[in-house]
Amino acid sequence: MNPLKKRIGVLGGGQLGRMLIQESSRLNLHFNILEAEANCPCALLANQFIQGSLLDEAKIRDLAAISDVLTYEIEHVNTEALLKLEKEGHTIIPSPRILQMIQDKGLQKEFYLKNNIPSGKFFLVENKAEWSRLIPLLGSEKFVAKTRKGGYDGKGVAILNSQEIINNPDKIPFEGPCVLEEFIACQKELAVIVARDQDGNIASFPSIEMEFDPIANLVTLLISPARVGSIIEEKAEEIARNLVQALDGPGLFAVELFLDQAGTIFVNEVAPRPHNSGHHTIEACYTSQYEQLARILLGLPLGSTELVKAAGMVNLLGAPDFSGSYQLENLDAVSKMEGVYVHLYAKAESKPMRKMGHVSILANTIDEVIEKANYVRTHLKFVKD
Ligand code: ADP
Repeated sequence: MNPLKKRIGVLGGGQLGRMLIQESSRLNLHFNILEAEANCPCALLANQFIQGSLLDEAKIRDLAAISDVLTYEIEHVNTEALLKLEKEGHTIIPSPRILQMIQDKGLQKEFYLKNNIPSGKFFLVENKAEWSRLIPLLGSEKFVAKTRKGGYDGKGVAILNSQEIINNPDKIPFEGPCVLEEFIACQKELAVIVARDQDGNIASFPSIEMEFDPIANLVTLLISPARVGSIIEEKAEEIARNLVQALDGPGLFAVELFLDQAGTIFVNEVAPRPHNSGHHTIEACYTSQYEQLARILLGLPLGSTELVKAAGMVNLLGAPDFSGSYQLENLDAVSKMEGVYVHLYAKAESKPMRKMGHVSILANTIDEVIEKANYVRTHLKFVKD
């Protein structure tokens, strides 16, 4: 079949899907979107839009019926339905077999252990009664508890003091199955996006480093290439590529990594889709993460992942103090800056800390990137329209 005629079906109509469509429009590709929200970021860009829950098997089947290849831009989908469709012969990338493992943080940790992917020490618990016995075995003053399923953007994750929880088990924040992890004292949080095509070829994007907003637990500034030196950069890419090799199937994967104080790299988790840590690739790399995914879905060769310039990315979050229709304060000043690209996700309303858009920044040096990013971060704000 002519690859350019393959209709791509996407579960989810958020900003990641939107940028996948936008970056594919040069190739005039066909996108069908399934999403519960009628006025989602993809609504006006899709060739065909199906309104429905990503958990509704019948709607997923409707999407599959009009698509030649399926993918997803969010992990919270009906994986059982996708597994059935795959068995029936539908092409789903990445395979729902991979998604099913990733959806469960416990299975992810076991996968790393089994495949010799470096990741922190952990224990799986079924209920609160098991916590006190296992926490001391992690051997760290603090530890991290994560619900095995259903968490996102830091929800379902708690950094806790080991002794305090042992002394006061009533302070355990989660019921049910959890992963308890050793706390890794990070020098930096890194991410490497890895693409694997349908023939098994692998390409990794240059690593990025991130800064987090400790309250919202969202990335506030991302820098690429990460300032870690070539040895750690190469090691980070090697670990991420090995992980994707072990996943054993095509797709675009974002590997989140911790670099500890001693310079050791640990895998935190992997996302089987385009990722916040790759938004800058639209302007900063020869091939963006979104175009790379489109190529993988269509069976085309991977493109060059090389960085064209030093790059940064700032998330634009809804202001904490209002909800409703919005405009951007200081858009004029930011528009005059060289190498600064404002992206808006077509969200009808601003809400506190909601991801509303992002700004990519290119410059000759990382110092210049940071200078521009700081201006953007402190000036470009969502205000009531
Ligand atoms: P989510 O999937 O919701 O993004 P993560 O597992 O990525 O959750 O955890 C969110 C954040 O919590 C990480 O980016 C990191 O800052 C911190 N964190 C998670 N696990 C650990 C760990 N083992 N040691 C130290 N910090 C951690």
